[in-house]
Amino acid sequence: MLNCQTSRGEQLKIIRDEVWNLKTSSLYAERIKNKAFAVIGEGDHYAKIMFVGEAPGKNEAETGRPFCGTSGKVLDELFKSVDIKRQSVYITNIVKDRPPGNRDPLPEEIAIYAPFIDRQIAIIQPLLIATLGRFSMDYIMRKFGLVKQIGPISRIHGQVFRAMTEYGEIKIFPLYHPAVAVYDRTKFKILAADFCRLYQEIT
Ligand code: URA
Repeated sequence: MLNCQTSRGEQLKIIRDEVWNLKTSSLYAERIKNKAFAVIGEGDHYAKIMFVGEAPGKNEAETGRPFCGTSGKVLDELFKSVDIKRQSVYITNIVKDRPPGNRDPLPEEIAIYAPFIDRQIAIIQPLLIATLGRFSMDYIMRKFGLVKQIGPISRIHGQVFRAMTEYGEIKIFPLYHPAVAVYDRTKFKILAADFCRLYQEIT
């Protein structure tokens, strides 16, 4: 039974344990077979900014850490460009287990892991959620009643959408997924310009 004294860390550990034992997920058996990890999230439990990606890739499933592979390097470069410290934000994904072969997450996979991201948001209470890629943009915007504002990511990236939560106002900030910038410097520049805007929103 949770009470108001339960720390954020303890509440997040409960989520971790539940995800680790999520045998009803079709990705669970794959994780066990590959001796891989679920990726719950990492960072400051009191972060003002939460970054939400799609699902772990190979490196993430091998280490249990979000965005620690090629896309993570791009993300780290973007943090550096605006002097945001990685440990000062919270980084997670919608889907906590790796879809095989890095395929896109399926609607039923998003549905089974959705309660965990919902609870992470309720615990951490970020003032701004930056979505990374179209799957997390779609899920987070729907969750906050912004369905009418959803559009192609090429049009709505870098814009601020405001919504209400139980703990007050939140800003939703859609971004391209960092993977798009791995081989494309033009996309990197777009992401970097969006990061400048994001930085202005939280300072
Ligand atoms: N891509 C994601 O969406 N999340 C990760 O953690 C890594 C790559």
